[in-house]
Amino acid sequence: MSSSKIAAQKTAREPGPEAALPVTGLVLEPDLPVCQTDLPLDRYQEEFRPYAEEYLALPDHKPATVLAYLERYIVPAQDHFGDSLLLLAHFYMGGEIVKLVEHFGGSIADSYVLALQARNQPEKKVIVESAVHFMAEAISLLAHEDQSVWITNPKAGCTMEMLAKEFMVEPVVDQLTERYGDDLLVIAYMNTSGRLKAIAGRTGGAVCTSSNARLIVEDSRKQNKKILFLPDEHLGRNTAWQLGMDLDRVVKLESPERGALRIEDTPGGLAALDRAEMILWGSSCGVHTIFNAGQVNWWQDRGWRVLVHPESPLDAVQAADGSGSTNYLWGEVLEAPSGSKLVIGTEGHFVRNAAQLGRQRGVEVRHLADIPNSTSAGCGCATMSRNDPPHLAGMLDLLRLGTAPDINRVRPGDVVDEITMIRDRLSGSEQAELVTNARLSMERMIAIVEAAK
Ligand code: SF4
Repeated sequence: MSSSKIAAQKTAREPGPEAALPVTGLVLEPDLPVCQTDLPLDRYQEEFRPYAEEYLALPDHKPATVLAYLERYIVPAQDHFGDSLLLLAHFYMGGEIVKLVEHFGGSIADSYVLALQARNQPEKKVIVESAVHFMAEAISLLAHEDQSVWITNPKAGCTMEMLAKEFMVEPVVDQLTERYGDDLLVIAYMNTSGRLKAIAGRTGGAVCTSSNARLIVEDSRKQNKKILFLPDEHLGRNTAWQLGMDLDRVVKLESPERGALRIEDTPGGLAALDRAEMILWGSSCGVHTIFNAGQVNWWQDRGWRVLVHPESPLDAVQAADGSGSTNYLWGEVLEAPSGSKLVIGTEGHFVRNAAQLGRQRGVEVRHLADIPNSTSAGCGCATMSRNDPPHLAGMLDLLRLGTAPDINRVRPGDVVDEITMIRDRLSGSEQAELVTNARLSMERMIAIVEAAK
């Protein structure tokens, strides 16, 4: 890889810990139906079914109708909680939910900025998040004692996180620690449970996001540590490449799908691990793994500028004109001069919304996988989309009535089975220990990012 190619990779914007919440710039289009919900009724928690039945019975799902429905529940909740209520959603939320949340005064951001919101706004006491569980848990990890964090659907997990559960990762960390002792340092991507963030904290490691992974990995390299990067193999490898690491010394463990991992079964055996500078856990995001250099080149050959999320495979990132977090990608659309032609390789709902934003600004935006006659199609994050307008309406109404199900409350260390919705909650003392260690890794990330400014 040439150094000019590294330089050609755009650096993602890095928001600081006091990051202001961005405004998406999106508007609700009156004739565009809200296509968010198609969950069968039995997928809703019992307490949420009346809200879903009412929603499904609406004469149409155009914004005016949906807003009137939501207003019946959200406005009384806002009157009840006043300024102490904070609504949040992630950029990947499908359909119009990002616009609906913004319409009611809520904010949209990436996982890093979301994680800081309770910490940065102590006056907010009730925080309701429409996104996936690890994001709500990250907010709760940094929250103050008197703040409560709620997720509108606890079944909204993340498939990347699901392949890196504590019971899979901890035995591997134990084996690696036995072999490498204090030389091992764990970096946990934000897309992990609090339990993994705590493991990172215990080893002196930090959390990272797609926008600051380079800074975090660089910091660990300065300490001459052997890095275990959790859980996304692509972000780990891309970061190693962007830092000019020898990729022969970036070693992926066996796939976690194979069950209990023994480190000696790593391709290349223990010798490969001994030589490794970075060890990758083998999880990934199905939404991003479909991208490749051939798709990137197809668009570039036709005069388009291609940007990809760094959860994409290395060849796509190497070929692209830029790579960065969702905040970075959104910012590129917001700032592109009129007449620009941008192709984005990331989550499908995000690109759909970015295309709408682009239309408002005279910028053409397409999805990287949207190539005529190709066999691949851009996917949305199906788990994120399990949060929909009835979940938002129900959550706020039930909170106002004081009858919100406790399973929707997210505390540090909570693990929810996405199928059965059975929750494993830590005891008070276990939770306190987890918060200490997980905060260490989160605060380390914040300190490294701040020091780099
Ligand atoms: S897009 Fe992929 S990594 Fe992001 S929350 Fe969804 S499943 Fe997880």
